[in-house]
Amino acid sequence: CGIVGYIGKRDVAPLLLEGLQRLEYRGYDSAGIVITSPKATGLKMVKAKGRVRDLEARVPKRFTGTTGIAHTRWATHGAPSDENAHPHLDAENKVAVVHNGIIDNATELRAKLLADGAEFRSETDTEVITHLIARSGAETLEERVREALRHIEGTYGIAVMHADFNDRIVVARNGSPVVLGIGEKEMFVASDVAALVSHTRQVVTLDDGEMATLKADDYRTYTTEGSSTQASPTTVEWEA
Ligand code: GLU
Repeated sequence: CGIVGYIGKRDVAPLLLEGLQRLEYRGYDSAGIVITSPKATGLKMVKAKGRVRDLEARVPKRFTGTTGIAHTRWATHGAPSDENAHPHLDAENKVAVVHNGIIDNATELRAKLLADGAEFRSETDTEVITHLIARSGAETLEERVREALRHIEGTYGIAVMHADFNDRIVVARNGSPVVLGIGEKEMFVASDVAALVSHTRQVVTLDDGEMATLKADDYRTYTTEGSSTQASPTTVEWEA
């Protein structure tokens, strides 16, 4: 239902929680957040059924980091619950995915992944994306995501983090909005400009079939086939 992400120098958890609050008007049944930082060795995650303030209440004291993605969920596959809330991690807690949309061939992919030994922790359609990325042997995170998306039929706006590639966030869009927010040595991503405009008015709206890599001081966009796309930011008008 709602996605917000950040990579930069600021303390990320309060930023993302604020972003989620700005998406509250869209309605949702659960929320979650995963964070890391350039020096961290792994990902830290908190999820909760209910409101953003329920999630906030669970965030531990030292939940610090400078990179993160967060989600508000409107359940389509699997009841609202802590486990079904996004992000969804793989068995090794390396890959984290938040997703808006519906994967049409999730049942079939899930059966194949289960037969291949994947252990599912949720009933969501989204979790298949996590396992597909985790199973890719491609060199870069971008290629791993691209490979995973080749198996997917349906709609998605996704944001992906990986513990072994913690200098970036990779995002993709097909039928569910993804907007990049371009800052000064910091980058944002969201499913709705409402979550960005308090930080930057410089935005890049992805097209269907488009992906992006966000780093703290740089971003690039390309197609799901891998060829670069033109991405000049436009300035959004917004009345607070
Ligand atoms: N289909 C996914 C789920 O049920 C994502 C729903 C959403 O867009 O929030 O978890």
